[in-house]
Amino acid sequence: MEQMTVQIVTPDGMKYDHHAAFVLVKTVEGEMGIYPGHEELIAVLEIDEMKVRRVDDENHVDWIAVNGGIIEINKNMITVISDSAERERDIDISRAERAKLRAERELEEAHKAHNADLEKRATVALQRAINRIRVGKH
Ligand code: ATP
Repeated sequence: MEQMTVQIVTPDGMKYDHHAAFVLVKTVEGEMGIYPGHEELIAVLEIDEMKVRRVDDENHVDWIAVNGGIIEINKNMITVISDSAERERDIDISRAERAKLRAERELEEAHKAHNADLEKRATVALQRAINRIRVGKH
């Protein structure tokens, strides 16, 4: 059976390295489903979940919270490079919920202060937290 290798690399090291039959990611251009034999491509990822259907067990799906970054597809090798990425089982949901509350507070303060930089940072932090909570609860 044709398969792909999926590797997710962050500054903390290799966060994921498995063989997959199917991968679903969200790029800035929209959702992208990837099967073996996909054309070569480089795309920018949204802060979103990544779904990996493993080859060893058709019913086994891994969910990973990916904090944006780049995906490269090259001859059944899928490489994701991101600032951070966490597998479902490694996510500390209460930490993400605290981060979400903090980001919401910062967003409100940034609004009041008309501080666009802070608003942008808080919005991204909020997206990260919401993504982690969603993946952690799969
Ligand atoms: P926090 O405010 O909770 O630190 P953050 O969004 O600022 O959240 P990042 O800077 O994106 O955190 O990540 C720092 C490191 O902590 C990364 O290695 C990331 O994988 C890890 N990390 C962040 N939040 C969580 C979480 N809820 N569960 C598990 N690992 C996490």
